[in-house]
Amino acid sequence: MASQEMYALGSQSSVIRELFTYGQQQAAIVGRENVFDFSIGNPTVPAPACIREAIEEILATRESAAIHGYTAASGDEAVRQGLAAYMNETYDAGVTAGNFYMTCGAAASLTITLKALVEGPADEIVLLAPFFPEYTVFVGNAGAKVVVVPPDVEQFQVSLNALEQAMTAHTRAVIVNSPNNPSGTVYSAETYEKVAALLGRKSAEIGHPIYLIADEPYREIIYDGLPILYVPKFYSNTIICYSYSKSLSLPGERIGYILIPGCAAASREVYTAVCGAGRAMGFVCAPHLFQDVVLKCLGQTSDVGVYDFNRKLLYNELSQMGYECVYPSGAFYLFVKSPEAAAAAFAEKAKKLNLLIVPADSFGCPGYVRISYCVDPDMIKRSFGAFRKLIEQYV
Ligand code: PLP
Repeated sequence: MASQEMYALGSQSSVIRELFTYGQQQAAIVGRENVFDFSIGNPTVPAPACIREAIEEILATRESAAIHGYTAASGDEAVRQGLAAYMNETYDAGVTAGNFYMTCGAAASLTITLKALVEGPADEIVLLAPFFPEYTVFVGNAGAKVVVVPPDVEQFQVSLNALEQAMTAHTRAVIVNSPNNPSGTVYSAETYEKVAALLGRKSAEIGHPIYLIADEPYREIIYDGLPILYVPKFYSNTIICYSYSKSLSLPGERIGYILIPGCAAASREVYTAVCGAGRAMGFVCAPHLFQDVVLKCLGQTSDVGVYDFNRKLLYNELSQMGYECVYPSGAFYLFVKSPEAAAAAFAEKAKKLNLLIVPADSFGCPGYVRISYCVDPDMIKRSFGAFRKLIEQYV
């Protein structure tokens, strides 16, 4: 009647979604102000003013087909030219319009890239824990196997030895995500240098290039003046999967891109396979209006200062209460060690206090919880009483 595999996928709701729904129900009982929902990564900072201005200008000045019609499957040429110029100016990327493929956000960028790279069921895609849980679904869809590298719980960078052990003759790609969901850490230049050296050596050993897929929806959400690193400068066989969902607070608009730089091995072949994968999955083209909107807003972001304020507030207060927090340098998540071994049991105790936090087991990192701080700062302040009661249960 229906695919059992897809049926299973459709009937499992994620822990995050379940918590979010629970929060909505609880709000109706105890009042919205008494529920502290830190479950979901839905940007709360408004999109910058340039988004509305760009939409209004486009609607006022263009004909319908130039707003709502199909674009080329890879995206509008002028948009991709603008993106290339921006990346060259900002990161000295040395790319052209022909290196970009516009997509419906990071999820589409990743599913298309994986579908384009995977040759057969023996292929392996390496995930570095902690990782965005949907990666396992995307890899499954591409017909490859998931190989998980255990987390580096000291630094939350990359455990090089563990990565080396995870690689085999079947390794096709490694997915990296920095700034990271859920740990909030940002990979250093040193980390990229070491990963690049290892991947280069392993590629030579196994006789085919291992691609690095850099999933970067949080690229510009970075703190303490840390530099934004352009990953292909460290490792040429990098494919960037980007999205404007977080940086411009546009998750419902579904807009992003894949960048396959000319320096990547078999760049043109991979690009053509990306076009084929997008076609096979029925994407047709990325939303036309929002391709044009992001072109007009290049280099802009939502007010990251709000997230920075929340980050400091939460990190400082929770650390003082005795929580063991991973220092967050990017994205909008605080990663906290569970005071008991089972993070699910800890999150359940939190839930009784109407504190909704996500156990990180599905992120490949048992013993930790994720607190999403893209929320109203007042809610964070109101939540401290509950956080205090929670930690008191462990002293
Ligand atoms: N990758 C990571 C690490 C994410 O956190 C998310 C969304 O939360 C995505 C990809 C998917 O983003 P998009 O909304 O652009 O598909």
